[in-house]
Amino acid sequence: MQTPRTTPSRLAKRAHYDAETIHPILDEALFCTVSFAVDGQPMAIPTALARQGDKVYIHGSVGSHFIREIEKGGPVCITVMLTDALVLAKSAFHHSVNYRSVVIFANAEKVTDETERMNVLALITDHLIPGRWDDLRPTTDSEMRKTTVLSFSLAEASAKVRTGPPSDDPEDEDLPTWAGIIPMQTVRLAPIPADNNTGTLLPDYLQ
Ligand SMILES: Cc1cc2nc3c(=O)[nH]c(=O)nc-3n(C[C@H](O)[C@H](O)[C@H](O)COP(=O)(O)OP(=O)(O)OC[C@H]3O[C@@H](n4cnc5c(N)ncnc54)[C@H](O)[C@@H]3O)c2cc1C
Repeated sequence: MQTPRTTPSRLAKRAHYDAETIHPILDEALFCTVSFAVDGQPMAIPTALARQGDKVYIHGSVGSHFIREIEKGGPVCITVMLTDALVLAKSAFHHSVNYRSVVIFANAEKVTDETERMNVLALITDHLIPGRWDDLRPTTDSEMRKTTVLSFSLAEASAKVRTGPPSDDPEDEDLPTWAGIIPMQTVRLAPIPADNNTGTLLPDYLQ
């Protein structure tokens, strides 16, 4: 939703407020940064996230300072960014990045229903490693008691997207400096078995 605080002062034409733009960015990102203030001190903590419907979810230890602070329900800002390319212009000034990013303003809501909490933990696990949850032993009551699950509305969220080649000043167009983009990607490499992996073959969902 576009509000005064989700409207960029610069290049507002790159901003989007629709679910069709915001949801795929959140679904591709594995991690986010959760920012909040404690007695006027800004704090920004990276953590895993997953989206379902018009909410994003995070989880953490009941003993975590960051979780205990934000579960009070104060204002939180969550950011996610995906970098698609470095953009090399003919001047330093016009260098840029092709990116897709999201900024969310929200207040944490604690998920208390046990079934929903378990579903969110499965959601986050499978978001990071699709297919993993069903391959794991059941989560114990003790583990559930040690875990806080929080949700955040996507009602006040913005996305910003840059695509395309560099944009050079007309007087720089003929400079001999190379210009273009260097595409970037986050990729998973081949799995490396742990020492306690007693002969179990790599499951299909990890191939
Ligand atoms: C990987 C990456 C690298 C970047 N590098 C630079 C850089 O080096 N220098 C630079 O000036 N800018 C950079 N940006 C862009 C930066 O995020 C801001 O969009 C830009 O600085 C303009 O800010 P503003 O003052 O207009 O935003 P503000 O007016 O401070 O923002 C107001 C609101 O606009 C929305 N908004 C602003 N930026 C974004 C965003 N990126 N994504 C989603 N919503 C947004 C938010 O809701 C925010 O609360 C980068 C972005 C990314 C993702």
